[in-house]
Amino acid sequence: MITTDTTTTLLKKHFGFDSFRPNQEAIINDLLSGKDLLAIMPTGGGKSLCFQLPALMLSGTAIVISPLIALMKDQVDALHANGIPAAFYNSSQSIDTQNEVLQNLREQNIKLLYVAPESLNFLLPHLNENNVSLFAIDEAHCISAWGHDFRPAYTQLGKLKKQFPNIPVAAFTATADVATQDDIVKQLHIPKAQKHLASFDRKNLYLEVRPGTNRLPQILRFLRNRKEESGIIYCLSRRSTETLAEKLVANGFQAQAYHAGLDTEERSRIQEDFVNDRTPIIVATIAFGMGIDKSNVRWVIHYNMPKNIEGYYQEIGRSGRDSLPAQTLLFYSFADVVKLRQFIEESPNREFQLAKLERMQQFAEALSCRRVALLNYFGEHISEDCGNCDNCKTPPQFFDGTVLTQKVCSA
Ligand code: ADP
Ligand code: MG
Repeated sequence: MITTDTTTTLLKKHFGFDSFRPNQEAIINDLLSGKDLLAIMPTGGGKSLCFQLPALMLSGTAIVISPLIALMKDQVDALHANGIPAAFYNSSQSIDTQNEVLQNLREQNIKLLYVAPESLNFLLPHLNENNVSLFAIDEAHCISAWGHDFRPAYTQLGKLKKQFPNIPVAAFTATADVATQDDIVKQLHIPKAQKHLASFDRKNLYLEVRPGTNRLPQILRFLRNRKEESGIIYCLSRRSTETLAEKLVANGFQAQAYHAGLDTEERSRIQEDFVNDRTPIIVATIAFGMGIDKSNVRWVIHYNMPKNIEGYYQEIGRSGRDSLPAQTLLFYSFADVVKLRQFIEESPNREFQLAKLERMQQFAEALSCRRVALLNYFGEHISEDCGNCDNCKTPPQFFDGTVLTQKVCSA
């Protein structure tokens, strides 16, 4: 360690926070003592700080593997604003800029270096056990086909531990599914990884599911009560993000469509406008949101049902990061289930994904506390109903259990 500052002093000095969030301190201490670890913390739980703070205290540069090039610049800018020397390395940069980054690494001018998994191979020859403090693997579930967002480029990360056995490897994810956890540890070759499981309960998020009939008028009514608030509407297809955004604009709302079909520049512009409160409403595919640091998102609507609970949880979790009340609304229609099944038919891990879809459907059809159902999925149990979901607020009538199904099927 190169500093005598305590972790709490640095927390205040560089990040301006008075206390740690659950699990942060334990994770930081593990990293400071050189342990490998797997941290499962919900979206907004504060995973970044868990590797950023030890990076300041250890000698060498922390290498952060991060899946989205578009977000690296934001993260590095935020670190600079906190007085922390950091850089990123990816294919969007010119050769000159990349060389500059490598020189800064050589001269040990940076405490954190963000790299895309696809660019890792170019960086590896420049790394050694003296100039690297730790490896942080963000969105680590991307390594696993059991996860919900498999990215082939992540599978090569297993070589980090092999090549640098003495450097701690810390995997971070917001996915707690047990099969995925085991796979992450196995593929990263960190069998002794310390596991840190944070609670997945986000009490401030109101959970609501409605049948997917007449979605547009329902959304307009919802938005009229929420002028000035920021929110995200998730749709299944690129086309529907555009048509819905157009309809919202036609109804006097400031909305922007966002999907992977837009060029990089436009995407980062839309994202920045949202983060800086210039565009309050984003209508997006699931391409939007991973790693976005915006604390005042007040609501999330799922125009279509997500294909699994991991995705749903992650997407609703983008609201209410400031711990203030936030609203989430899922539209459930049988047509969506059919469409999702068709997508899944073409995917390589079909059976696994169908099982996940079925769990999502069960959640949407649940007649008791939504939070109990959601947390159960992640292996967590709460003793009482939450009081902050539709089923708790307005318990469904049990005299005819088929009512919701009928509504949904006629959507
Ligand atoms: P995650 O990656 O887990 O989704 P982030 O690392 O992006 O979450 O952190 C979410 C937000 O929480 C950020 O705005 C961050 O600054 C804030 N945060 C992190 N740790 C603390 C803390 N100890 N106290 C207050 N806010 C924190
Ligand atoms: Mg994050």
